[in-house]
Amino acid sequence: MAGNLYIVAAPSGAGKTTLVRLLLERDAGIRLSVSFTTRAPRVGEVDGVHYNFVDVPTFRAMIEAGQFLEWAEVHGNFYGTSKPWIDAEMAAGRDVLLEIDWQGAQQVRTLFPKAIGVFILPPSLEELARRLGGRGTDSAETIARRLAAAQEEMRHAAEFDYVIINRDLADALEDLASVVRSSRLGWPAQSERHSGLFASLF
Ligand code: 5GP
Repeated sequence: MAGNLYIVAAPSGAGKTTLVRLLLERDAGIRLSVSFTTRAPRVGEVDGVHYNFVDVPTFRAMIEAGQFLEWAEVHGNFYGTSKPWIDAEMAAGRDVLLEIDWQGAQQVRTLFPKAIGVFILPPSLEELARRLGGRGTDSAETIARRLAAAQEEMRHAAEFDYVIINRDLADALEDLASVVRSSRLGWPAQSERHSGLFASLF
């Protein structure tokens, strides 16, 4: 059976990582693609779990070797989705989720037109600014720079199939789970999943 490919994008500060983590905790049927990146690990990030951390020469060699389904430069670092991993998961008919930026989403959409794109938005610009300045130690200039980058990402929201506003985490999670749930109810998947039932019914 063909699995679904979900692309989830958002500006930083929208709560995407938390939402995706909660979705995966309650839906064991979705596999998260672990991207490759050249950025340094943040505190608490584990190699092979949050990202596969590689240096720039390794990343470039992987581009040359056709190892990426898509890749992009985001905020001065390279990020890419493993092509062998996606190919294997899709061949096995599993549902896969990609947490990537709008540039990567555009590339994936070209390769997989049926990919389901979800964009997460914050409830307001003020709230986003508050979340981006969360640590309270950043300068106004740093926060303004993050906010500008976030607005750049949000300009691409219309390229996605679904938009979720993360005002309340529990509501946003329900929205995301609903997208996943309804995407599994399409005729091709249902008729394959329930072929015996369908044959007995009609
Ligand atoms: P962060 O460094 O904050 O984890 O991620 C920065 C941005 O890069 C986020 O928008 C994230 O979705 C995006 N990103 C992470 N992995 C990939 C990837 O494999 N490909 C692309 N195109 N973007 C990615």
